[in-house]
Amino acid sequence: MNNRYDVLIIGTGIAGLSLAIYLSELAPKLSIGLMSKGALPQCNTRLAQGGIAAVTNQVLDSFISHEHDTLKAGSGLCNPEIVHMAVHEAPTRVNDLVRWGVLFDANENGFHLNREGGHSANRIVHHKDFTGKEIHAKLAGKVRRCANVALLKDCFATELLLNDKGGIGLKFVRKGDAVERTAMAPRIALATGGSGQMFAYTTNHPFATADGLAMAMRAGARVEHLQYYQFHPTAMYQSRMGQVPLISEAVRGYGAHVVDGRGRRFLFDYDQRGELATRDVVTDAIYDHLSATGEPFAHIKVNHLDLADFKAEFPTITTRCQKMGIDLAGASIPVLPAAHYQCGGIQVDAWGMSSIDRVYALGECAGTGLHGANRLASNSLMEAVVFARRTAVHMLAQDFDHCTTASMEQAVPIHTAKLHRMISEKRRQLRAITTGAYRERNNRVAVQERLYAVNQLRGQVAKFGLPGYGAGGELTNLLWAGSGFIDALYQSFEPKEKHLLQGQTSHT
Ligand SMILES: Cc1cc2nc3c(=O)[nH]c(=O)nc-3n(C[C@H](O)[C@H](O)[C@H](O)COP(=O)(O)OP(=O)(O)OC[C@H]3O[C@@H](n4cnc5c(N)ncnc54)[C@H](O)[C@@H]3O)c2cc1C
Repeated sequence: MNNRYDVLIIGTGIAGLSLAIYLSELAPKLSIGLMSKGALPQCNTRLAQGGIAAVTNQVLDSFISHEHDTLKAGSGLCNPEIVHMAVHEAPTRVNDLVRWGVLFDANENGFHLNREGGHSANRIVHHKDFTGKEIHAKLAGKVRRCANVALLKDCFATELLLNDKGGIGLKFVRKGDAVERTAMAPRIALATGGSGQMFAYTTNHPFATADGLAMAMRAGARVEHLQYYQFHPTAMYQSRMGQVPLISEAVRGYGAHVVDGRGRRFLFDYDQRGELATRDVVTDAIYDHLSATGEPFAHIKVNHLDLADFKAEFPTITTRCQKMGIDLAGASIPVLPAAHYQCGGIQVDAWGMSSIDRVYALGECAGTGLHGANRLASNSLMEAVVFARRTAVHMLAQDFDHCTTASMEQAVPIHTAKLHRMISEKRRQLRAITTGAYRERNNRVAVQERLYAVNQLRGQVAKFGLPGYGAGGELTNLLWAGSGFIDALYQSFEPKEKHLLQGQTSHT
């Protein structure tokens, strides 16, 4: 395996794949290393159902309306310049996806546009209810045909390597190897996705373990808005913790009702928009209502809709319900909120550059300023492609002066069965602490107790000297993200200017 590239991209979700394609198109001679922890499709991107938000019909929709909806969802904490830029660039980026072969549903007016919670117009470009799968398949196919992209599959990135100029490479461990190696590049992009696995229930892929965020924090990068973790109000309830299936926002947009055990549409008690309120509002309403009624879950009901049309529109959800023995004509779907999207992350500028020179971040691991306190539905796939293009342009405007540091190899500890048991137990404890902190996020004392608990847990785990890759590395990274999340929650009881955290200073 070559260990020197012009650009190293970590992550093969929509952010990493788009960046590789843009770079390849703009500079076909550039050598690009594209790393993923497992196989290419193992990521959150493949799970995206709803689609991409973009103003593609300027008669029935407008940029100003998309901007307004984004700012409103973000509760005054979005960066308005970034919102303006992303909303205006989104339609061109959607056209890039089409140019790369992605098929979106269409009608006689152009794209078939869905509507989702918080949007005041139909503007969600989609491929049935498996948009992410379609995008990923087409982008992965295209990347495989890029002659200047080397795919580095099954490689777990563990740490960034820096010198006085900034990022120069990273350390990684290949699956099946007990050796940590280095890969060098004068430009590095972290596109490692989110951190949903730190919570009890999450819609996220098992790989969403905050690896890039934690690596950047350890290297001293600035992070922002970590306290703003978005829960999805309607994931399919199941008793086992971990990844749970999502019932897309588009289902509520399509006319499904959220009801309690007595069949009552209780969301209007909390917000006049009912099912179409933003995710944080619906999530809190469900949690509050369940606390009041003592019921274990809420329900989504669709039997008042045309079921043939519904099944054609939502084949993935229909199939999943069939597998679970849920008859959509009679029974309702049991749902509960689940951790869904990390709104903040590694702080970047309008070109994807982090506070560490030569280290970029994009996709869910980045804090671009687009989402503020709450992401508007379907703005994340859009953000990933918008920033992929900008990152590519910015990278190519710089000199590619390679560092001469020699590559290194170092033996690393292996995971024994005993270590695996300890890791599972500590991960369970972390999930309980972070989920409790989220549910009680408005209670300063409760948050402070959770902060103490997570730091205690970090201290206990640190004594084990865990391997930096695989399950050990993931637990360490989740602990960084978990304590960053709760620390930021705690800081947010202080005046607003304390919201920006310096990873290095807060997490020594
Ligand atoms: C169920 C679900 C539905 C969603 N629906 C929508 C939607 O309709 N519209 C929308 O806009 N957004 C949606 N989202 C959010 C959106 O899918 C994600 O925010 C987006 O796909 C993130 O893309 P990404 O490229 O940043 O990360 P990912 O797609 O998660 O990719 C992360 C990549 O990083 C790699 N990686 C991670 N750690 C390491 C490491 N240590 N070493 C090497 N590689 C590593 C992984 O292997 C993976 O390739 C949804 C999310 C979920 C979970």
